[in-house]
Amino acid sequence: DSRLLTPEKREDDADLSLRPLSLVDFTGQKAARANLQVFINAAKSRGDALDHVLFVGPPGLGKTTLAQIVARELGVNFRSTSGPVIAKAGDLAAQLTNLEERDVLFIDEIHRLNPAVEEILYPAMEDYQLDLIIGEGPAARSVKIELPKFTLVGATTRAGLLTTPLRDRFGIPIRLEFYTVEELELIVRRGARVLGMGMSADGANEIARRARGTPRIAGRLLRRVRDFAIVDGVDTVTREHADAALRLLDVDPIGLDQMDRKYLTLVALSFGGGPVGIETIAAALSEPRDAIEDIIEPYLLQKGFVQRTPRGRMLTTHAFRHLGLAEPSREAA
Ligand code: ADP
Repeated sequence: DSRLLTPEKREDDADLSLRPLSLVDFTGQKAARANLQVFINAAKSRGDALDHVLFVGPPGLGKTTLAQIVARELGVNFRSTSGPVIAKAGDLAAQLTNLEERDVLFIDEIHRLNPAVEEILYPAMEDYQLDLIIGEGPAARSVKIELPKFTLVGATTRAGLLTTPLRDRFGIPIRLEFYTVEELELIVRRGARVLGMGMSADGANEIARRARGTPRIAGRLLRRVRDFAIVDGVDTVTREHADAALRLLDVDPIGLDQMDRKYLTLVALSFGGGPVGIETIAAALSEPRDAIEDIIEPYLLQKGFVQRTPRGRMLTTHAFRHLGLAEPSREAA
């Protein structure tokens, strides 16, 4: 996937240096931070493991970063894995039995755990016990293994993707929201400082406005702007520099890229602005439905370009205006 604006992790994202390490350094997500701080303080003063935490929100908003911060603030080890990586119940059992008291185990994309693995997670989360079946057929017997009290931190793009029993076992569910332009500006300025590059306030604003409400994208755009600045011998990035660089990368003034415009133009021109079903859109764009719902649509919905209706997706007047297209009259229907 060569989408510059995709909020999903990419290999060239080597942005570890930009990752905030403490709750105080973490910009935005005020409600989430305040909540976490209270629960972390309480757990620490009781000397107890933190209750299990579920982070819900589109990719790139800081779920992994927050999970790491939680472990750091608790002063415990951070272990990390992801739903699709845990193939068998035994793999998860191995992870769990390696934990120390109060450790954080982070499971990214937890909605993608297979059901057999999920089964052994329930008693682990609830009673800190593993129920394993050893052997097969008549010789099979079940053994119980005591686990240390640990904290499971799960991350998922949409809460609705989790089974109810799994969702119910998280004592601390936390929703992450898209960042405001002001918050992204702070993140861009901090990133520029870390990267040792000069950045004017309006340069930071230009990058922030085009980052789709997503810190991961802000970091990525910042790096690309830096590449241009280095080549052009620019010391301090201004709005003009940022704008010129981002234009070359085909990111429009409000952060929409080719894929977003393809989506919007498809619905506008081939389906008269909708309503059109998500499956139809997915087929026409040759993209998996999940990718469209998790990556493309959240930002278009938040921007008020698209509406979900019971009969399908509809473009708003706002979207037609942004595309520079005339809105079809829909009264006739
Ligand atoms: P997620 O797990 O939700 O996909 P990550 O935690 O991996 O997102 O964050 C993506 C990148 O964005 C991180 O590498 C980090 O550098 C940056 N980031 C996320 N949230 C913030 C924030 N609040 N402030 C600064 N940088 C952030």
